[in-house]
Amino acid sequence: MQVKICISFVKELIKKVDMNMLTIKQLLVLTDNYIYLIHDDVSGETAVIDPAEAKPVLDYLAEMNWQLTYILNTHHHLDHVGANVVLKQKTGCQIVAAEVDWDRIPGIDQGLKAGDVITLGAHPIQVFETHGHTNGHIVYYFTEDQAVFCGDTLFVMGCGRLFEGTPEEMYRSLQQLKELPADTRVYCAHEYTEANGRFALSIEPDNECLQEKMRIVAQLRAEQKSTVPSTIEQERVTNPFLRVDSLGVQKTLGLIGVPPVRVFTELRKRKDNW
Ligand code: ZN
Ligand code: FE
Repeated sequence: MQVKICISFVKELIKKVDMNMLTIKQLLVLTDNYIYLIHDDVSGETAVIDPAEAKPVLDYLAEMNWQLTYILNTHHHLDHVGANVVLKQKTGCQIVAAEVDWDRIPGIDQGLKAGDVITLGAHPIQVFETHGHTNGHIVYYFTEDQAVFCGDTLFVMGCGRLFEGTPEEMYRSLQQLKELPADTRVYCAHEYTEANGRFALSIEPDNECLQEKMRIVAQLRAEQKSTVPSTIEQERVTNPFLRVDSLGVQKTLGLIGVPPVRVFTELRKRKDNW
């Protein structure tokens, strides 16, 4: 049964994280932003993804005795770049972000575009351009570590708002992520899971994987625990924005058999007004 697949996936995930050589630390800041610190023991290199605030990052670096090597930004919004300049001043780290965002990423040192591969120690990181939430939004895919840091493009059971891009662009961006290996861990930039899940259930009330996921999420939130990371497989079976080709989603929207990108456009509109 589908429900069992969802649960066994969580166990798999725990096993994989234990075996992984990278240490990934999640910090909750502001109201619902996640900052990620990623440390490679072998090289001693450390990256931080989307530092909204400096103090929690500096405190954790000190606690672990880590040196910050890189800031990796997914996009230019203040809740993702807010601590760039302070962290660079205090640690001497390099700031890496999208080339096209050169003028609006504070302190940028290196510009990236689609297909670029950078490294943290010996760990390759592939860059995807995921326009939609902003023009120039990028995500960082750790190809050998089953992890993608996707900023405000893909959320657990949701996706980012379209501030600068078109629905077509966001649809293509999400398709790229949907095609990553099933066991890829999804590290998004916000804890929006509960609200996203309620919307998802309103679109696909009969989706058993979604129902099961919501039970797990409710329990995690009751214990004030993070619901992130998810996995690409979990998103494929629960996230309506990755399921615009499914009959359940199309039926609710009254758009059976129409091109997926049109279904996506309508779904995003509904979420905006929800
Ligand atoms: Zn944003
Ligand atoms: Fe954000």
